[in-house]
Amino acid sequence: MKDENGSISPRQVYDVLIVGAGPVGLATALGLRKRGITNILVIDQTREFRKVGQGVDLLPNGLRALKYIGSDAYEKIKEPAVKALQPPDSQEPSNSPDEVKEKPALPKRLWRQKNIQGDTTRSFPTDFQSWFDRYGEGRVSVSWFDLQTTLTSLLPPDRVQANHRCINLEEEAGRVRIDTISNTATSTNPFAHWEMRQSNVDTSGSTQESQGSDPESYYAKLVVAADGINSTIRQVLYDNKGLKEWAKPHYSGFSAISSRIDNVPNSIIEELDNKYLQGERIITVHNNSGQLNLPELKLLRLMLIYLPDNSVSYLLYAPFSLNAWQNKSLTEILDSGTQALRNAKFPTIFTELIGLSNPEKLSHRLFYMHPVNTQNNFQPPWSHGRVILVGDAAHAMPPFMAQGANQGFEDAAVIVTFIAKLLQENGLDKENAIANIFEKYEKIRRPFIEKIQTATMESNQWAQQQWDDFNEILHRRVYPSVVTLGE
Ligand SMILES: Cc1cc2nc3c(=O)[nH]c(=O)nc-3n(C[C@H](O)[C@H](O)[C@H](O)COP(=O)(O)OP(=O)(O)OC[C@H]3O[C@@H](n4cnc5c(N)ncnc54)[C@H](O)[C@@H]3O)c2cc1C
Repeated sequence: MKDENGSISPRQVYDVLIVGAGPVGLATALGLRKRGITNILVIDQTREFRKVGQGVDLLPNGLRALKYIGSDAYEKIKEPAVKALQPPDSQEPSNSPDEVKEKPALPKRLWRQKNIQGDTTRSFPTDFQSWFDRYGEGRVSVSWFDLQTTLTSLLPPDRVQANHRCINLEEEAGRVRIDTISNTATSTNPFAHWEMRQSNVDTSGSTQESQGSDPESYYAKLVVAADGINSTIRQVLYDNKGLKEWAKPHYSGFSAISSRIDNVPNSIIEELDNKYLQGERIITVHNNSGQLNLPELKLLRLMLIYLPDNSVSYLLYAPFSLNAWQNKSLTEILDSGTQALRNAKFPTIFTELIGLSNPEKLSHRLFYMHPVNTQNNFQPPWSHGRVILVGDAAHAMPPFMAQGANQGFEDAAVIVTFIAKLLQENGLDKENAIANIFEKYEKIRRPFIEKIQTATMESNQWAQQQWDDFNEILHRRVYPSVVTLGE
């Protein structure tokens, strides 16, 4: 696999080439290696792996998928959460063997959704143990970068190559050619909504980021496209199929404004605490009164995080139109946020709070998605020939239900199972066999993802019972039936 200089050789024909070293691409690589498939390579466009990305909540369904993919990955990812379950002094040796130390109970945190009257409309716990007690599997918060680092650490270093940006693919006889370039200076990806930078309202979708250098081609029997929401592979495949309209992500109808406000006056903190926070650190407020002129305003919500020293971070999700912020200053964007709160009839305490934001520190972002089913009942395809889309490349969605990475792990669990079977049956050269496993993957994953995408857009309106019922279905599924039956 290595050439005479000991480096990865583009001349090699890999069994599986994975494009994208995000959580889903790496989980796929791990799962394949666990199943004895070692002639694989993961490439990523980033010039070097660096601290980027947001926090990701891994929920029982995603953790179960990860456990099925590879138990070492699962153990490593949940390790910090499990450690945090141990109160710090529980590890101290006790003075006497007879002495039983009473462990202080860890505080249970609830994330409440409140209506504008301050009533809790639903809530869920944020700690590992409460989820574990309910679903037999916990909840772990991890940063995207730590997820990437941990998963990469479980792969041989030469199997994950940075600085290879896929720019094109060609299907050749019995294999796929992936063309890459190096040393590209990647500017802000307008669709990768996790980098909420200031002044980032470029919606042109331009990917002409830089010239790059050192073009190289890689060859593989199968290509797993895990290159995220703005997938190059999806664009090439869709352009070739005349599906240009679906090649780029679509606007979800939602945008977000966020900031941190320091030194919030005591009077505002007190009012917020008395009526809404009531001792909790994090809440989401929405108006479920049904008295709104525009029905979409029901979907507006304001997340507040109370921080030490009278600081408050907020994230306002609102149904702004795609071009609402085009050519607008940060002050105007902030004003549009406070106006949206007024339109949704939020009490003045919230407009007062948001009005304290320093526009220079405001972040704002449009949320995009790649739907699995469109209004005309068209299903943008996930595969072509020897290429399959997984994770956000196949079905990106806004993060409202914390399911993007979790669903991506489910994809990885299913696809590694089918690819392993294909290889066991020497099917890499049989186009029918490949088409067959891709079809099965899609049959299992697409209907479920459709439910998740729908829930992502609607669940803000759900009351506790509907929320609990949905989570019951989502988190109780076990392996291997998720892979064999899709449920
Ligand atoms: C604010 C926010 C919060 C979120 N919270 C959660 C959460 O709590 N729980 C959850 O499950 N999900 C969450 N998500 C979603 C989650 O981050 C994504 O679903 C997940 O990262 C998708 O993984 P992926 O591997 O498919 O794609 P990505 O994570 O986008 O990784 C794609 C990789 O491909 C590389 N790449 C892209 N193009 C190319 C190319 N042309 N050539 C080579 N490499 C390329 C990129 O550099 C990247 O490393 C959140 C998202 C956001 C925005």
